[in-house]
Amino acid sequence: MGQLTTDLINDAEEALLHTYNRYQVVLDRGEGVYLYDIEGKKYLDFVAGIAVFALGYSNSEYKEAIKAQADKLLHTSNYYYNVPAISAAKRLKKMSGLDRVFFTNSGAEAVEGAIKAARKYGFNKDGRTDHEIIAMNHSFHGRTMGALSVTGNNHYRDPFEPGIGNIKFADYNDFDSVKRLVNDKTCAIILETVQGEGGLTPATEDFLKSIRKLCDEKDILLILDEIQCGMGRTGYDFAWQKYGVKPDIMTTAKALGCGVPVGAFLMNEKVGQNSLVAGDHGTTYGGNPFACAAVDKVLEIYEREDISGHVREVTPYLWEKLDEIMQKHPSVKEHRGAGFMQGLVFEKPVAPVINKAIENGLILINAGANILRFVPPLIITKENIDEMISILDKCIED
Ligand SMILES: *Cc1c(COP(=O)(O)O)cnc(C)c1O
Repeated sequence: MGQLTTDLINDAEEALLHTYNRYQVVLDRGEGVYLYDIEGKKYLDFVAGIAVFALGYSNSEYKEAIKAQADKLLHTSNYYYNVPAISAAKRLKKMSGLDRVFFTNSGAEAVEGAIKAARKYGFNKDGRTDHEIIAMNHSFHGRTMGALSVTGNNHYRDPFEPGIGNIKFADYNDFDSVKRLVNDKTCAIILETVQGEGGLTPATEDFLKSIRKLCDEKDILLILDEIQCGMGRTGYDFAWQKYGVKPDIMTTAKALGCGVPVGAFLMNEKVGQNSLVAGDHGTTYGGNPFACAAVDKVLEIYEREDISGHVREVTPYLWEKLDEIMQKHPSVKEHRGAGFMQGLVFEKPVAPVINKAIENGLILINAGANILRFVPPLIITKENIDEMISILDKCIED
């Protein structure tokens, strides 16, 4: 590590609130699936800013679109219409088959909106103000108070209690544990279609279908959090599309803007007509022309280049190669996930492997202490996978 990096890290540790234990690298620019640090060292990137930069870095068409919008108009207000938001919303409706879009600035805000829509739907139905939401253990929905309240991780939640209240936790992929918690106050069930942070666990088809059926029978809203697993990451535009179930409300963010901070929650017409109305919810920045120009271009590229199709095609190769790593190294206990959202479960913390990988020009990240998470840009090729595997193999060996 050079002097420049050391100095910058020292400055950072004096100026920024210490809420992250950062890896000792200062990233500077990106090109395709490679990142460069401030000293010019090159890294193969298998993190994509945690499932954000789906199209790779420095995509010229994307860059031109946001530059052009920056020249034109960055922000208005949601009291006026703007063309990029209209266009992006139409594309998102088409991609998801859902009916109404609300743009936010982040994933957590999308979850907040989803919770508010669900509570309002319940309120409109029976006038009660004590509705309950069922969430999952080991889930992750974000760091704001509402999103945190439905996050099934005591370590994240305990210091900030009380949360928003009336949240119950069931076990993921255990339908009976969900059913036991349902009563006449239940207004929604929220889950990730594939759990990300909590350990790269896909919902079983049986679990998701049973929940959908239960929700239909009891007029409970199904909220699917697709912030990490959506936008093509599992080989489907949205992960639930593989299961043949459809949520009433969906959240998306991360890859939605491919680096411009933006999220959204979407809903079907039933919820749209019976929940949030003028005055119930708002945001100053959310859905501004700059963010939406990014979303609009991202969605255009997704459709034209069939990004999800590429993921579906290359997924078996990544799966096979990570399986080989597991066979070879007894320290790897399990391999799980879906699409370009895979994890290797180790018996010990993976931080030393990640540090070693960074030394050797490979950016990796964990999910919990013991899981190596692979969430690369969605444009990676088999050659990129081979390059990653050869570095990873050596780092685990060491
Ligand atoms: C990242 C993430 C969030 C939170 O998104 P932010 O943009 O960090 O607020 C919520 N849910 C899931 C599943 C996520 O992966």
